[in-house]
Amino acid sequence: MIKGIKGVKDILPEETPRWRVIEETARRWAERYGFKEIRIPIFEVTTLFARSIGTATDIVEKEMYTFPDRDGTSLTLRPEGTAGTVRAFIEHNRAADPLPQKYFYIGPMFRHERPQAGRLRQFHQFGVEFFGTQDSKADVDVIALLWRLLSDLSLPDLTLEINSLGTAADRAAYLPILVSFLKGRVGELCDNCRRRMETNPLRVLDCKVPGCRAATEEAPQLVAHLSPEAKNHFDDVLSTLAVLGIPWQLNPRLVRGLDYYCLTAFEITSTHLGAQNALGAGGRYDGLVETLGGPVMPAVGFAAGLERIVMMLPEQSVPTPQATVYVAAFGAGGIQAGARLLDALRLAGLSAHCDYRASTLKAHLRQADRSGCRFAVLLGDDEATSGSVVVRNMDSKAQETVALLDLPRHFLSLIKGF
Ligand code: AMP
Repeated sequence: MIKGIKGVKDILPEETPRWRVIEETARRWAERYGFKEIRIPIFEVTTLFARSIGTATDIVEKEMYTFPDRDGTSLTLRPEGTAGTVRAFIEHNRAADPLPQKYFYIGPMFRHERPQAGRLRQFHQFGVEFFGTQDSKADVDVIALLWRLLSDLSLPDLTLEINSLGTAADRAAYLPILVSFLKGRVGELCDNCRRRMETNPLRVLDCKVPGCRAATEEAPQLVAHLSPEAKNHFDDVLSTLAVLGIPWQLNPRLVRGLDYYCLTAFEITSTHLGAQNALGAGGRYDGLVETLGGPVMPAVGFAAGLERIVMMLPEQSVPTPQATVYVAAFGAGGIQAGARLLDALRLAGLSAHCDYRASTLKAHLRQADRSGCRFAVLLGDDEATSGSVVVRNMDSKAQETVALLDLPRHFLSLIKGF
């Protein structure tokens, strides 16, 4: 038997209703905030990700699915959606269109991570990108959109954690201070962090290893080293969140794994998720469009993991399937009329079923029960000839006689009542 790949999951028909609720709610919220859907490719040239995400990040160092194309060009399955969206934004010269430009995407991402609960190799993200303004209200819009979406889905115990990564100059001034602090604690750091101290020292702050956390408890904080410009921006974000009634928690360790962030960085977590507790995360990336060869273009966005939202979605948020009709067609004339009836019901917008293997009324009724249909139409040769059929309510077992041609209208009016 050929099996699926580790960390790459099938989403079976029983599970897809949960996914659809989330995707439809996400689309609805994105549209309320003025974001339009973009569909970007699943794979791109490797340099796009290396250059945008940063060569010294976990994703680029060890998590990308990279392979040579037939002509030798290095290609990569997208590990996230921002790089591709920015590439498309530049390639289609969207900066020449009226700003701001607001996009959202939903789709699979690929990272070679150690599979565990909430961490897969193929997973799905809903993300938004807001291009064209550095105004702090844009940061608040994307944070509020994610907060409102997750709240609308009734996910329990949400926390918004937020930090400011300052401007590039703020970070350049802060990093030597951090590195000199870390050098004093180097003996307490894990091997990974010792390496990161050289390549990406900020990441030492969000290492989950208890020894590293203890060692960096007293580390100087970037928020305490913000320029007046960055501090104003951050204060504005926080005060507008307060105006909207969205609670936040300052998390000075929140530095994000991707290089392109500046100023606002945030994450929405839930205590219900265990170790992988982030539902979605994002921030501002004012330099990225320029880094990838586009114009100066401030931007802010987030990506949320759909698997983790699916895991937390309360059962009552998932609607039960629509009421359906089972056509119990038997006998040569009944089967013929049944095919026509199924077609007519479906054309009227109803969900109509028949088990073609059943040849007796008894067998049909058993299948009608199993399939969970609300109604069954009993249609044998006699009914086909007379043009009137018996409709059985599968719950109450009540039966009534209805004209064959009237059935689509009959069911539509019944179903409207549910
Ligand atoms: P990131 O793009 O790393 O900022 O991640 C944004 C969100 O995507 C996270 O908060 C998770 O909800 C989700 N996510 C990231 N990596 C994975 C993964 N390997 N498996 C499942 N979800 C993930």
